Amino acid sequence: MYNAKAYAATSATSPLARTTIARRDLTEHDVQIEILFCGICHSDLHTVRNEWQEFMPTVYPCVPGHEIAGRVTKVGSAVSKFKPGDIGAVGCLVDSDGTCEHCKAGFEQFCPNGTFTYNSPDKHLEGVTFGGYSDSIVVDERFVLRVPSNLDLAATAPLLCAGITTYSPLRRAGVTKDKKVGVVGLGGLGHMGVKLADAMGAHVVVFSTSPNKKEDALRLGADEVVISRNADEMAKHAGSFDFILDTVSAQHDINAYLNLLAVDGRLTIVGAPPQPLGVAAFALIMGNRSFSGSSIGGIPETQEMLDFCGEHNITADVEVIPIQKVNEAYERLLKSDVKYRFSIDMASLRSE
Ligand code: NAP
Ligand code: ZN
Repeated sequence: MYNAKAYAATSATSPLARTTIARRDLTEHDVQIEILFCGICHSDLHTVRNEWQEFMPTVYPCVPGHEIAGRVTKVGSAVSKFKPGDIGAVGCLVDSDGTCEHCKAGFEQFCPNGTFTYNSPDKHLEGVTFGGYSDSIVVDERFVLRVPSNLDLAATAPLLCAGITTYSPLRRAGVTKDKKVGVVGLGGLGHMGVKLADAMGAHVVVFSTSPNKKEDALRLGADEVVISRNADEMAKHAGSFDFILDTVSAQHDINAYLNLLAVDGRLTIVGAPPQPLGVAAFALIMGNRSFSGSSIGGIPETQEMLDFCGEHNITADVEVIPIQKVNEAYERLLKSDVKYRFSIDMASLRSE
């Protein structure tokens, strides 16, 4: 084992603070990565504050972070995909059994023996896994992704969660140029959803509670922007969407969006508010509409998404911050005040 620098929360109410954690020595299949950037996902905040305690309670200390980009510093003897000096990236998954039906199908996120990047039982060390708010991590090479060389690394880190979580449901919904696609919430996930749906050729409509994001939404690739608190603006789109992607992190009226779906339309929720949402049966029945969920994406699809982003020159719009500002960033996330993803420059931790 060796020591790594990290930021951790010690309880649901304490701020993230500097600590030292243990990382494992490399096994033959492992890659050691010097973390250069790590995005801040709203899931980090939900986890740090134990907001998902009913579904996945947080074990403290908690080191969040699952949008990791960095440089390979060491590789195990059996590693073939990476060598020291290469750029590598890690998302929400760091291990799985590789043998179950889901792993074989490339959906490692559903493996019953899978390991999430943080707050998951650690198969090598005691306790739970520690994420990317750290200067270093050790990951099985199967879970390390290649980054297209034309992409800026600080802005690429968020693709590892916000990118794949929006890419996967858009692809599954068959989004192409003739489709009308709604994206609800213009935050980290939402702004990636807009860029990706636009690159897939769709007619993209953003639903936002923040009037001051209108110009940005259009610049990011939206064709129209609806301020969702305005009932008249909402009504204009009734019954017209092929697909709506809901990325909202808090309680909201889901029926307002189900009613905007066309016949056979589908709304997929990726936002994960802790409280249940009240779905009106009639909003689904009238129009054979579907309401579904989507969980990140498997490793093959994550690589496909990164390659797609490389081809289309897509990265996140990031505000790069030093790790010392992470608690402030969390407060801003709660106020929907992020344009549109915080990316932590880990040089700030290295020099601490
Ligand atoms: P984020 O950057 O904070 O964005 C969330 C956006 O939702 C906000 O920018 C805001 O957009 C809107 N919003 C916030 N509070 C709202 C409210 N009370 N009513 C209506 N709209 C509201 O968060 P994120 O990192 O994109 O994550 C979004 C959610 O997805 C989180 O719950 C996260 O845990 C979840 N998530 C799920 C997966 C998955 O696999 N399914 C993966 C990653 C994240 P406007 O200002 O435009 O209204
Ligand atoms: Zn995430």
